[in-house]
Amino acid sequence: MIPLTELLTGDKPRSVRAKLSESKGRGLSSPSVAVINLTLRCTLRCVYCYSSAGSLKDLRCDIARAFLSEFSQSGGRVVILSGGEPTLYPDVVNVVNECAKLGLVPTLSSCGMCSLEVLRRLVEYGVKYVGVSVDTGIPFLESKIRRGSDIEKIVDTIRELRRLGVDVGVRTTLTVASLPVLERLLKLCSRLDVYRLCIYFLVPSGRARELSTLSVDGELAVRAMLYLFKVVRRHPLIDVLLVTNPSAFLLACLYSSSSKEEFLKLAESYSARCRCNAARGIVSLNVRGELLPCQFSPPEFSCGFILSTDLRTALKTGKEIVERYRCRACELADLCYGCPVRLYVHSVDADPLCVVRPLTRFQGALIDDWKISLIKRMLRGTQYRA
Ligand code: SF4
Ligand code: SF4
Repeated sequence: MIPLTELLTGDKPRSVRAKLSESKGRGLSSPSVAVINLTLRCTLRCVYCYSSAGSLKDLRCDIARAFLSEFSQSGGRVVILSGGEPTLYPDVVNVVNECAKLGLVPTLSSCGMCSLEVLRRLVEYGVKYVGVSVDTGIPFLESKIRRGSDIEKIVDTIRELRRLGVDVGVRTTLTVASLPVLERLLKLCSRLDVYRLCIYFLVPSGRARELSTLSVDGELAVRAMLYLFKVVRRHPLIDVLLVTNPSAFLLACLYSSSSKEEFLKLAESYSARCRCNAARGIVSLNVRGELLPCQFSPPEFSCGFILSTDLRTALKTGKEIVERYRCRACELADLCYGCPVRLYVHSVDADPLCVVRPLTRFQGALIDDWKISLIKRMLRGTQYRA
């Protein structure tokens, strides 16, 4: 995750991230975050759903327990229960309870169209944080993209969670629909007392693998980022995080720097936190019980089944897989890597959603000339280290 607000304003993480890191890992070099896809049941049929949710398929509860036990022993810390809609999983209370018993921090990734009664129970059992998806906040667009959704109901869910004292993060997928309303989303967060906005770039997984109409290309993504950089500074109380596009941290560093040396120093200091952390900082268990480097990984990235493969071996396999699909065509690849899933699916040697390479086509009106020249030189193979 790219801590955009921190990068642009210099402010350290506030409430949510700070609280989630309170329960420290146990010093082992293994992922601290796990995403478990509990079920493919879902109230909605989002056009880009990375799980292609919409069936009654559930993860076996004994498999979920086996994974949690191993994850906890390996030094794991935070569990993101996802799906589908995790609150529809018949054993969700037991899974949350198991997390809490093992000293893990249980969190949810929800579509927001869920039973408040179930949510209240999960909070009683220890859920500390809920990520709720909102793409535009505009009813017509919301129900077109996140088919079946009702923004008023989602807002009610967020209000109830905040009333219960639970930290909430709004999760937005960047598409041509959400791009023009990013500031509107920040204002919505303020109104709902939400201090975290996570902006996801599209990864071609599940239904998004076939989606073309809504996606932004690299050049549009650069424009979205430059717009967002300005807007974020107007809302310094909201912690904005960028997800699934490592190159965005390089653009943020470039935007914040006044010289080449400053840019390189900043980029090097943020690289370890911002580049792809699949199979390193994060691991995922899908609804069939397979381990994957991250939740967006295609089936071809499978690292084995949790009941027949130990976590350590699976992570070694996962690291080898993502290493095979990292950017090779760029002088900045040591700092960034790109997104291995996009590189694999599109069979390319540079991330198609990279927001650094398209800068060579930009004019100085949007970003200083010296920054564009610097990137041009780097992409030609000029030595970039200060
Ligand atoms: S091409 Fe370079 S800057 Fe762009 S995503 Fe790949 S490594 Fe990052
Ligand atoms: S492969 Fe890496 S960059 Fe791509 S979605 Fe997974 S964790 Fe994110």
